[in-house]
Amino acid sequence: MKVIIVGGVAGGASCAARLRRLDEQAEILMVERGPFVSYANCGLPYHVGNVIEHESDLLVANEELFRRHFAVDCRTGCEAIGISPQDKTVQLRNVATGDVSTEPYDKLVLSPGAASVRPPLPGIDLPGIFQVRPVPDAREIREWIERGTSFLAGMEKYSGFQTVRPAMRAVVVGGGFIGLEMAENLVRRGFDVTVLEMADQVLTPLDREYGRLVEDFLGLHGVHVVVNDGVAGFEQAEDDSLTMSTQSGTSYPADLVILALGVRPDTTLAQMAGIEIGERGGIRVDEHMRTSNPDIFAVGDAVEVRDFVTGEWSLIALAGPANRQARIAADVIAGRDSSFREPRAPRSSSCSAPASRGPAPTRRRSTASVTPTTRRSTSTRTPTPGTTRGPSRSR
Ligand SMILES: Cc1cc2nc3c(=O)[nH]c(=O)nc-3n(C[C@H](O)[C@H](O)[C@H](O)COP(=O)(O)OP(=O)(O)OC[C@H]3O[C@@H](n4cnc5c(N)ncnc54)[C@H](O)[C@@H]3O)c2cc1C
Repeated sequence: MKVIIVGGVAGGASCAARLRRLDEQAEILMVERGPFVSYANCGLPYHVGNVIEHESDLLVANEELFRRHFAVDCRTGCEAIGISPQDKTVQLRNVATGDVSTEPYDKLVLSPGAASVRPPLPGIDLPGIFQVRPVPDAREIREWIERGTSFLAGMEKYSGFQTVRPAMRAVVVGGGFIGLEMAENLVRRGFDVTVLEMADQVLTPLDREYGRLVEDFLGLHGVHVVVNDGVAGFEQAEDDSLTMSTQSGTSYPADLVILALGVRPDTTLAQMAGIEIGERGGIRVDEHMRTSNPDIFAVGDAVEVRDFVTGEWSLIALAGPANRQARIAADVIAGRDSSFREPRAPRSSSCSAPASRGPAPTRRRSTASVTPTTRRSTSTRTPTPGTTRGPSRSR
């Protein structure tokens, strides 16, 4: 059986590792268009903040480890550019050379993630405006922060040699989890930070009262929080600094802007393959992570799943579900009967309705043994690829 996995970070890497554990014989090809596989997205803001000092500490596993330890044909800098469901082939492009090749598959797993929202606003492509998605984004932000200060690199750490730099100003557009993590880390880097949020509170999944507590806490750390206002555009001043204007007509000067406006499922390949896309814009999958094509699976930020509580279709852009879904796809491909947690029945408005009493029974985890990989013995513990661990925190 040949399995091709598109995307090599949270979902893709977890799926490859799990599948190898379940099936020693499967031919597994994992392609990733970026330069890294299996890295900690969740740590990117903390790398910007220097809490995670070295880029290498973000990398959970690498191409070499997948090849040698898991016998997975892992290719970075390799983009899937087309799927032919009839022929069961995937077209691959070498990002560096542009060479295109075709690979057949028996089963295909899509874990392409999500793309950051980047509205076509005036000035959005000006230098100094960043998003935080793959590792190179964090590298660019760090370089931007440190530009012109290379001779001082590291000097701020030494108490005997303090330098005075004008306070740098940052605007973070979007008060979600990633926006606030960036605010936290930019404060750590000495920025005067403003967070702009269009809703009437930051962290909109929280109740309003809790949102206010978070805003107060940000204020204690010197972050200016502006709610009920959206970004309208950017301009560059003569000294190269930026000015962000908002829909209410207010202007904010900035040396650095971070766009943290949310993400959209990447369904490009799925659409090419004629796979069903759901009402929330994600790839529609069943509880076994199968798409509308029975030989194609999809996991992670790109899919929509039933909300556990409401039963509604929903998008969950989090690492935990991506890893879990990836394991389920691998299980099912290896012949196991695994399924993603099914939603509870929607709550009835009647208190006496049996469906509203208590949680639905959860499925017991399968206890069948897992065949360990025996291709290479190793005395050191290998990290589990696919996880995107950052500083301890859960969502
Ligand atoms: C800054 C940041 C902080 C985060 N913090 C947290 C957190 O604290 N907790 C949490 O639970 N989640 C967090 N997340 C979200 C979490 O990282 C994602 O939910 C998770 O990585 C999704 O896994 P995925 O496999 O679907 O996509 P990804 O991990 O994004 O991987 C998708 C990969 O597919 C590749 N790809 C796409 N298309 C192709 C193609 N055609 N060919 C080849 N390769 C392709 C992409 O290059 C990408 O590397 C954070 C995300 C970010 C960006």
